[in-house]
Amino acid sequence: MLRKHVLLVHYHELGLKGRNRPKFERQLITNVKQTLNKSGLALEVSRTSGRLLVFAQSFEQGLEAFELLLKVPGVARVSLGEKVSRTLESLNDGALRALVSCEPFGSFRVSARRANTDFELDSMELNRVIGSYLMEHTEAKTVRMKDPDATVFVEIIKNEAYVYARSAPAVGGLPVGTAGTLVCLLSSGLDSPVAAWQMVRRGARVIGLHFSGAPETPDSSSVLVGEIAGALEPFGGLADVYCVHFGVYQRAIALAVPEKLRIILYRRLMFAVGGALAVRLGAKGLVTGESLGQVASQTLDNILAVDTVATLPVFRPLIGTDKQDIIKQAQQLGTFDISTRSTDDCCTLFMPRNPETHASLEEVEAIWQTLPHEQWVEEILRSLDQR
Ligand code: ATP
Ligand code: MG
Repeated sequence: MLRKHVLLVHYHELGLKGRNRPKFERQLITNVKQTLNKSGLALEVSRTSGRLLVFAQSFEQGLEAFELLLKVPGVARVSLGEKVSRTLESLNDGALRALVSCEPFGSFRVSARRANTDFELDSMELNRVIGSYLMEHTEAKTVRMKDPDATVFVEIIKNEAYVYARSAPAVGGLPVGTAGTLVCLLSSGLDSPVAAWQMVRRGARVIGLHFSGAPETPDSSSVLVGEIAGALEPFGGLADVYCVHFGVYQRAIALAVPEKLRIILYRRLMFAVGGALAVRLGAKGLVTGESLGQVASQTLDNILAVDTVATLPVFRPLIGTDKQDIIKQAQQLGTFDISTRSTDDCCTLFMPRNPETHASLEEVEAIWQTLPHEQWVEEILRSLDQR
């Protein structure tokens, strides 16, 4: 009698993608395999109507894969159970094992789905028959249709049958690699790692670009950014991270421009470098962690005064998000503790006492033209080649 530990990987949104669907499915399979392989789980992955199947050698191995797959972008839900023979006896046995694996619980229900109609019992009958079997074989349990402690799912698809009771919503979104490439201006702060991840979750390959205060400060922010990349790894990850030693350029800007405008000109240079790197890497835009009004540099006037230097679209996925929600996401991603460790970076270097909150675009552009920004961008890109 067939009995195999299996994970069902559901992917709602992909199902809607029409002619792109095979491409999305292929990418999801690649990403799922990669995630499992990285943890030393070289499991067999296949596809069946509208979902992926991942076969595990044991329940424990299945559980390990379950936790990993919940974080893979493009996965909407993961269920862990068994593939069993398509007989009532096997369904009953499998359902019982699935239910027992959910101990402790007081109430349960059975939710059967029959994708083909050639099975002898319909869904309602399956619910009833398997439900009574479970009642007989578990002690002092009640069936409850609304909010039971455990639900045993039974699915009959073509010639296959699956039973599972362990099922959880996953991260959702789209498979990484289906939306093209972006360059994220990535600090070691709270916001930009969350912004980068949001675009990763929408299927983008995201390359991080960090500016540290080195050589004017220690290069410790680059170390933190490396840790942030490590934390994001299970959640779809960053494709690469580039670190720029920015201290010298900040010094040059600090000497050349009015003190209040320093931050805006640092930021313009960051955008210019990001844009040039994006073009070189074939990326289609930039990402920042800006959130409207969060700090002085993020007023609409200041965003405008920086944005006009960009030649590619700039995505700001957090622009309308409150700090509390950003913090919650950073905690879920595991970047919060890294980002809140204080360190010197270019943000603490040569900072003005009273930064401008409503910069004039004309003034900023006029000053920008006096700086050797094209030469700086070239120099910085060259330094990235040598890393
Ligand atoms: P974050 O939490 O991402 O550092 P922030 O609230 O500190 O953001 P700002 O300092 O105004 O805000 O930075 C705005 C955005 O500019 C950041 O979200 C990031 O995308 C980019 N940025 C700022 N500093 C750096 C840096 N050192 N390297 C790369 N990008 C940076
Ligand atoms: Mg910051």
